[in-house]
Amino acid sequence: MMSVYEYALDVDKTPEEILKLAISLGFDVKDMDDLLDDYMITELDSAIASGNNLEEVIEEEIAELEENISKEEQIKEKHKVSNPAKKKPFNNKKDLANRKKEMYKNKTKLQSNAPINNDNVVLYREGMTIGEFANSLNVGAAEVIKKLFMLGIMANINNTISLENAELICLDYNKELKREETTDVTNFEEYEVIDDPKDLVKRPPVVTIMGHVDHGKTTLLDTIRKTNVVSTEAGGITQAISAYQVVYNNEPITFIDTPGHAAFTEMRARGAQITDIVIIIVAADDGVMPQTKEAVDHAKAAGVPIIVAINKMDKPGANPDRIMADLSEMGLTPEEWGGDTLYNKIIAQTGEGINELLENILLVAEMQEYKANPNRYAMGTVIEARLDKHLGPVTTVLIGNGTLRLGDPIVIGTAYGKVRTMRNDKGEEIMEAKPSLPVEITGINDVPTAGDKFMAFETEKEARSIGEARKTQARLKENASAGIVTLDALFNKIQEGIKEINVIVKADVNGSSEAVKNALEKIEVEGVRVKVIRSSVGAITESDIVLAKASNAIIIGFNIRPNNTIKERAKEAGVEIRPYNIIYKAVEEMEQAMKGMLDPVYEEKVIGEAEVRQLFKFSKVGIIAGSYVTDGIIKSNAKARLIRSGVVVYDGNIGSLQREKDAVKEVKKGLECGITIENFADIKVGDTIEAYEMVEVKQ
Ligand code: GDP
Repeated sequence: MMSVYEYALDVDKTPEEILKLAISLGFDVKDMDDLLDDYMITELDSAIASGNNLEEVIEEEIAELEENISKEEQIKEKHKVSNPAKKKPFNNKKDLANRKKEMYKNKTKLQSNAPINNDNVVLYREGMTIGEFANSLNVGAAEVIKKLFMLGIMANINNTISLENAELICLDYNKELKREETTDVTNFEEYEVIDDPKDLVKRPPVVTIMGHVDHGKTTLLDTIRKTNVVSTEAGGITQAISAYQVVYNNEPITFIDTPGHAAFTEMRARGAQITDIVIIIVAADDGVMPQTKEAVDHAKAAGVPIIVAINKMDKPGANPDRIMADLSEMGLTPEEWGGDTLYNKIIAQTGEGINELLENILLVAEMQEYKANPNRYAMGTVIEARLDKHLGPVTTVLIGNGTLRLGDPIVIGTAYGKVRTMRNDKGEEIMEAKPSLPVEITGINDVPTAGDKFMAFETEKEARSIGEARKTQARLKENASAGIVTLDALFNKIQEGIKEINVIVKADVNGSSEAVKNALEKIEVEGVRVKVIRSSVGAITESDIVLAKASNAIIIGFNIRPNNTIKERAKEAGVEIRPYNIIYKAVEEMEQAMKGMLDPVYEEKVIGEAEVRQLFKFSKVGIIAGSYVTDGIIKSNAKARLIRSGVVVYDGNIGSLQREKDAVKEVKKGLECGITIENFADIKVGDTIEAYEMVEVKQ
């Protein structure tokens, strides 16, 4: 017989560990002075020997112990606890009128998207200490330690508490434990309030048209829009965004133009449910083609109802029966042949048969009963996004649930902000958007990606903290495995046998990103080619750097300048960002790099940056930008670029530089100065002036 102390000394463990272990093995040992008999010692010996890690053994044993606590009792307890909490309607009573002033005086209140937080809920955070947990439970730490002891766990105030134990203790206090999400803020589900069925009302169906190229998708989309959208403005309907809503028989239907089958599935893979119904369009004279099959596969994978539109019925070679037979083989048997797929024969060009198609859409919608709760903050999906020189990031979103209102704080992907302007598909300014409506909004701080989910919040603070957290998380995902890729290092890589050079293209407008992409992909040097892995519109983001790093890519910014944070990140990640304004220049340098002949050239070197803080107008000199040098040095003979929201607005020369009233040669970081830009006056407060020089680079 020996005491816990003595035995602990023997086996080189702490007495606390031995005590825990003994308790977990089911022995009646309460303190260090209790005596262990031979049987206990053998058991302890073998437990220590079998577990490489004492902690693990203890945890295993405790888990078993816990399991033995009567299941029935736990279930009963749980019901007792969770019901009262559940009955509490989740309705945020805070006055919206207060938040949005007069604008929404007569509107109803929206339910919040924020996580539940009432008195009955205790938040659990991974790695929480017993002291912290006791605090959030609003009891003394000693009490918690006592309860833990009863569960067979010896612990002190600074030890961490496991989720399971915290849960059991909460049961004792009739409180509900809720895990604070610290690990996955990218997941909006955590914030989703499940709607009460009585809050749900009918919403319009969202329809996507897919099919083989040239089978008439665009024509059908155009015809439906032209014949069913009532123009409110003189000059006809101008479709402003890539989605629109029509009203047929008093029922609205939303149509979305998706960028392609793969994009559709990629969006879906990221959890974006963007469509309720898919229309597969097949040209009657051409029949089922590879992309038709692909479209059917993608639609089936999405698990949404499919309607088939057989188009071009006016063509001489039209053979709808063959199409029905071919599609029947893929499981789309027409109703008239005893199946359950709706078919429509149409002429997209003239509009013939389109009314029947719309009727069928409404029929499916009626059967599926699409519903949403307009009485909560909005959530939904990004359909399209771009960077506008004047407006900043412009995003087209589809409202999935809730109502989006002007001024709502919002998180979109890793971007956030407040809805500053909101336009519908006709380009009209609107104040609020209900479920299934596509709208174009501005006011967020970054360009998101199609398929990103968005969510509106009650307070700006909430939106900001979630947005920031998501940004950080995206950054953390950076993987450290990739090496450094620069144009100069490329030749070596090619020598090593690399056959593809990955490039990410970011540009200010859609046309140029496509043009740069096409031009680069055409270059071919000795079996090496450029592969553009991402080409999109918008400022260079952290996600671009993450992708570049993960795939050894170079980022090409076309008329785009990275901001300081991005430059930093790129440097950290070893990713090269090459800025260009002229396509052939990009092509030329890429080609040279691929041939390993990147000659010493003049390269631009950014020497400083200044932020425009105030504008002074003088009739003689024009606009002087009262600026603050935030980085480096500004020289009076340097070249200069004017950057607004990440976009290069003008590229030219510094016109003049002055401190107080005197012309100076240079101004250093931390000082104020007046700057003019040669032949350019459209300077705004908040713009950045980037000064650069052309220097010869040595290889
Ligand atoms: P998409 O590639 O699927 O978007 O196909 P488009 O809508 O661009 O149509 C391809 C071509 O087919 C265009 O020249 C259209 O004018 C033509 N087209 C579309 N619908 C019809 C139709 O119902 N009848 C005939 N004869 N031609 C059509």
